[in-house]
Amino acid sequence: MNMTGPVQNDATPDITSTDETSLLVIILDTNPGQRMLRETSHVLTHVVESVIAFANSHLMQKAQNKLAIMACHSRTSHFIYPGPGKPQDIRQIDGQYEAFTVVEKTTKQNLTQLLASETSTVITESLLAGAIAMALCYIVRLQRTKPPGAKLNCRILVVTGSDCSASQYMNYMNVFFTAQKKNIVIDVCALDQHLSLLQQGCDITGGIYLKVPQLQGLLQYLLWVFLPEPPIREKLVLPPPVKVDYRAACFCHRELIDIGYVCSVCLSIFCKFSPICTTCHTVFKMPAPLAVKPKKKKIKL
Ligand SMILES: [Zn+2]
Ligand SMILES: [Zn+2]
Repeated sequence: MNMTGPVQNDATPDITSTDETSLLVIILDTNPGQRMLRETSHVLTHVVESVIAFANSHLMQKAQNKLAIMACHSRTSHFIYPGPGKPQDIRQIDGQYEAFTVVEKTTKQNLTQLLASETSTVITESLLAGAIAMALCYIVRLQRTKPPGAKLNCRILVVTGSDCSASQYMNYMNVFFTAQKKNIVIDVCALDQHLSLLQQGCDITGGIYLKVPQLQGLLQYLLWVFLPEPPIREKLVLPPPVKVDYRAACFCHRELIDIGYVCSVCLSIFCKFSPICTTCHTVFKMPAPLAVKPKKKKIKL
């Protein structure tokens, strides 16, 4: 199955072009521990409204377009659209396309349930790597069950205000390289803080990383930068790519480091020399101590 990209210059007319579906999976970080939510809690409402409007714009572009929205919380990640169980009966609102109403109502209902289930006040980091892994599984399942001949272009958009957690470094790298192998683009919209690990993920999978300069204009940034499909993006004037911070996290303390020791057997990274690799248990020779010239003994006469 060829999944390299929807733009094909075949001489024969592309009959299947109407069967081409774009799936957008949005991962929304709803963890109440995010700094911007702790300072002003109503920010979440603004972010959710913007994301729903953006999601509906994606559906509006093409009748075949598909959408999934996930909430990444402090302990779990859930699909909030399409939600678990059968879709609820939603009364049509005059003047609004039913599909948009369903997206809005389902997302808000499931999100409210998720937020209400959170009882702990302990601040924990968002499980973004796990949420991306779930999104990848979902995409792979859809790709496996799609009708033959149909084309499914998939991408993931992460919207988060968390800071980068180097403790999930390994999980991040695993999901980034899996996505790259499956031709799934990962886009990241950082709302509050710079995210160097997720920025690496965008670079690896060919997605766009954007740190939103002003949260008020979130919807505009989403529509401008993240709405166009990846093949169309090359034709647009988008924010220039920033230099990617390619620091790795050491396996001993999970901190981002510039220079470290790398195990020559399993490529684990350590910030300090250790004689035994904690990952693969290879034993290394201690570096020889600096040679000290033996002092010349003065010969007593
Ligand atoms: Zn370390
Ligand atoms: Zn090793």
